[in-house]
Amino acid sequence: MTNAWRGIILLGGPGSGKGTQAAALAEALKIAHISTGELFRNHLKQGTKLGILAKGYMENGELVPDEVTVAMVRERLSEPDCAGGCILDGFPRTIAQAEALDMALADMNRQVMVVPLLVVRDGVLLERLSNRWTCRACGAVFSQFSRPPREGCKKDECDGELYRRPDDEPETQRNRIRVYSEQTEPLINYYQQRGLLVRIDGEQDVEHVREGLLAKVTAVTL
Ligand code: AMP
Repeated sequence: MTNAWRGIILLGGPGSGKGTQAAALAEALKIAHISTGELFRNHLKQGTKLGILAKGYMENGELVPDEVTVAMVRERLSEPDCAGGCILDGFPRTIAQAEALDMALADMNRQVMVVPLLVVRDGVLLERLSNRWTCRACGAVFSQFSRPPREGCKKDECDGELYRRPDDEPETQRNRIRVYSEQTEPLINYYQQRGLLVRIDGEQDVEHVREGLLAKVTAVTL
């Protein structure tokens, strides 16, 4: 399997640690990290047409329409840094997106290799989202217990300001978890039926999750 394209989809609810773990895994495996949430936030920051379209959905914790999201991911997958593989974080989020992804990858002679799922209970997700702070400059995520927000980011010498993502406010959090169970959880079955799903206990501390995830993914992709 050494020459195969390493397509990894990281599944897990909002606040499950997907973003943090996807970044660490991408670095360890030296493949691209594609976070659709991050792509949308960048569009929003730059005030592009896509960003303006996505804004309302994001603020309410709803999903941006599939056609728009799929087109953005298709374009991203064709970039050179995805030649060896990539980790998709936050995509697909609906069965329609998963089917569109399968088609897009087939067009490129690629396929999904493994789908790790970070398993975290809803109550724990809510608690984590309530304590989550994000760096405005580099996007790193902290809990208010691991880094008091007033101290700023400090990751890799970044001095960005920490802020609460507007969609981490309580009302929106609950909606995001509801949207996840209604629209994204069906993907667990979708990938399980294809024999691609591996489960990781996402309630362990960050380091243990990272090690467990890397071990499971390496067993499949090397
Ligand atoms: P995230 O950072 O992954 O939690 O994403 C933040 C927000 O971006 C979501 O609540 C959605 O509004 C939007 N978004 C991110 N990924 C997708 C996707 N695959 N499909 C639709 N909307 C998305």
